[in-house]
Amino acid sequence: MSETSPTTPERSAAAEPDFGVYVHVPYCRRKCRYCDFYSLAQEPDPRFGAAIAAELAHCERTPAPDSAVRTGRAVVSIYLGGGTPSLLAPDTVGEIVGAVGHRFDVGSSAEVTVEVNPATADRAALLALRGAGANRLSIGVQSLDDRWLAVLGRLHDAAQAIRSVQAAIAAGFDDVGVDLMLAVPGQTLADSARDVKAIAALGVPHVSAYLLTVEPGTPLHADVQAGRAVAVDDDLAADMLEQAVELLAAAGLARYEISNYARPGTAARHNRLYWSGGEVLGLGPGAHSHFRLADGGGLRFANARDVACYLRCFAAAPPRGDRFPRDEDLLSPAGYLCERLYLGLRDLERGVDLDAAAAAAGIEVWPALERCLAELGDRGLLQRFGTQLRLSADGARLADGVAARILATRAPG
Ligand code: SF4
Repeated sequence: MSETSPTTPERSAAAEPDFGVYVHVPYCRRKCRYCDFYSLAQEPDPRFGAAIAAELAHCERTPAPDSAVRTGRAVVSIYLGGGTPSLLAPDTVGEIVGAVGHRFDVGSSAEVTVEVNPATADRAALLALRGAGANRLSIGVQSLDDRWLAVLGRLHDAAQAIRSVQAAIAAGFDDVGVDLMLAVPGQTLADSARDVKAIAALGVPHVSAYLLTVEPGTPLHADVQAGRAVAVDDDLAADMLEQAVELLAAAGLARYEISNYARPGTAARHNRLYWSGGEVLGLGPGAHSHFRLADGGGLRFANARDVACYLRCFAAAPPRGDRFPRDEDLLSPAGYLCERLYLGLRDLERGVDLDAAAAAAGIEVWPALERCLAELGDRGLLQRFGTQLRLSADGARLADGVAARILATRAPG
């Protein structure tokens, strides 16, 4: 970790990208067995909302260019993720949303999403979240089969998950997404099909479906190592994903991004920021930020994963945000262009415009990258319509490999 950069990088004056704010809420009631996200198994500190507001008020001290975090900048999305944001008191959510609105211009069309754990939110709590400014919920259902919820170590059962989705709709949220985990250890293709169908039957307009990666260091990984759980092999996992794409499409949920499915007009705006070259200011311990710079490169920084230090710095009076450590990463223009391409290709509907991405990076497409794109096209992984690039169905199946191939062409400097 490095201390906040003493220099302020300059930011491109080219057309200003869309901008959003991500708030990382690093608290969970209990850790799930597969989780390697940054969160502590404890109730939120009562000072958390004030600390986020203090970080925001001092965000000119971030490594981001001043122009990127200028007061009054339009915000298209606020996203409270975690962790378990639904553990926060609705007043704290309101305090955070209000603080973002105090510094930036949060229009009435802005998307304000709160992640919800089904074990932590009843109808009254969800109504209060609406009152606090949330207009979209992302509910961590993961499965509607108690066997798989137990393997994952989730805090809720299937009945609770169904109740929380019903409560969200009853509370007036039109924009509700649920998360679904595929390839849970022990699942067969038929098990996975039943789960996908049950999730689709919830009738929500948006589903995020992820293939579970059993991360080393998690209790689930220890279960697999000890033979208490059987990991799903890559071929079966690929079949589960393909099956999910078909079943969700049959239910009216089209795959618009590698891991996301939606009814028309309900794609998550926050997610699109990451794929379309938008800029994001991340607040809270463990939050990531990314901005475009004047030289065509990119700036990424990640707040330290340290709640205690965060509260010492931002809940102090006066706040000592300059003492809070962050990891910074500068991308060259070539690195920025590669990133724009492989992230943009995740958008399966729109893809990415090669010329626009190169113009944003301020460089020409170099020969090795041209050859790479041509080769991906010849292999049927990439489709090209003029300057617009899009993954084919085969390319979507091999998206990680396509991204690695593009990154490997990165010219030095
Ligand atoms: S609720 Fe989410 S962040 Fe919290 S422990 Fe479970 S998977 Fe991790």
